[in-house]
Amino acid sequence: DAKANGRGRWSFFDNSMQEHVQTKDKMSRALRQAIDNDALDIAYQPQCDSSANQIVAVEALARWDHPELGAISPSSFIPLAEETGMINDLGLWILRRACRDAHQWPDVVISVNVSPTQFKHPRFVETILETLEEYNLPPSRLEIEVTESVFAGQAQTILTSMRRLKDRGVKVALDDFGSGYSSLSYLRTFPFDTLKIDRDFISNMDQGIEAQAILTTIIQLGQALGMTIVAEGIETSEQLKFLADSGCHRMQGYYISRPLPDNALTAFLEDHELNAAMQDTVNASVQ
Ligand code: C2E
Ligand code: MG
Ligand code: MG
Ligand code: MG
Repeated sequence: DAKANGRGRWSFFDNSMQEHVQTKDKMSRALRQAIDNDALDIAYQPQCDSSANQIVAVEALARWDHPELGAISPSSFIPLAEETGMINDLGLWILRRACRDAHQWPDVVISVNVSPTQFKHPRFVETILETLEEYNLPPSRLEIEVTESVFAGQAQTILTSMRRLKDRGVKVALDDFGSGYSSLSYLRTFPFDTLKIDRDFISNMDQGIEAQAILTTIIQLGQALGMTIVAEGIETSEQLKFLADSGCHRMQGYYISRPLPDNALTAFLEDHELNAAMQDTVNASVQ
């Protein structure tokens, strides 16, 4: 009857809820272990300058290879770390590893994603500066990426932290610009060095004149404010060309390279340098 049916539905719901909670609990314990046992990893995605001749920066992207479940996306384990209060430890692990690895690529800026919780931590700036010192990395080699979700509250704390980082030479980038309720007043109030245009704008670019108009306008706005403009999610040569022609400074995306393990990045940089040198020779002989 209807009542039994109803009860059945509820108990089914309860079970799946409970399973969900158990899975989450298991996952968060596994993540805790991965952080404590150095079992996380970083993939580095190159960013080239607009002429594509030089790799000027790399973005550090957290990776977690679970022993049974395989690779888990940061889009799931970063929010899990946020929810369970592990994000500060995870973020510090990534920061330290990135600063350590950075010595392998002397002329490249390392861009590290930082969650709003980390950024708002009272010792955030000290932690950054101490880590740079510990790994003997010049502050100018580090860029911090935050998304606009950082602006939910504590504007004064954020502003103070940004200024202190800037004073020391650490760059701060606004990530995924345009993806949420981006307000232009953020750009006026907060002294970002770098503006990363959200991937959606790049992938929609081929769909017409409106998307292109928005892109060129964002680039001009960033330029007018003296910011470095980075485009991410570039997958085609057409996209790369359009963005370079529009004045975008740094290019990131599968078309240039997928995110790479540190040793693969070293090989990629060597290849890239060689190709650029050969290209120069070809250009010189043509002229
Ligand atoms: P994000 O910071 O916007 O990073 C860019 C994402 O786009 C990366 O996904 C990258 O692999 C992907 N991507 C790059 N080029 C292309 C392309 O040409 N096409 C497509 N379709 N995708 C491309 P990933 O590595 O899965 O990271 C997802 C998000 O997780 C990041 O977005 C970032 O918000 C977060 N995340 C990753 N690592 C960390 C970390 O160490 N700390 C924090 N707080 N967040 C992180
Ligand atoms: Mg990222
Ligand atoms: Mg990012
Ligand atoms: Mg992004």
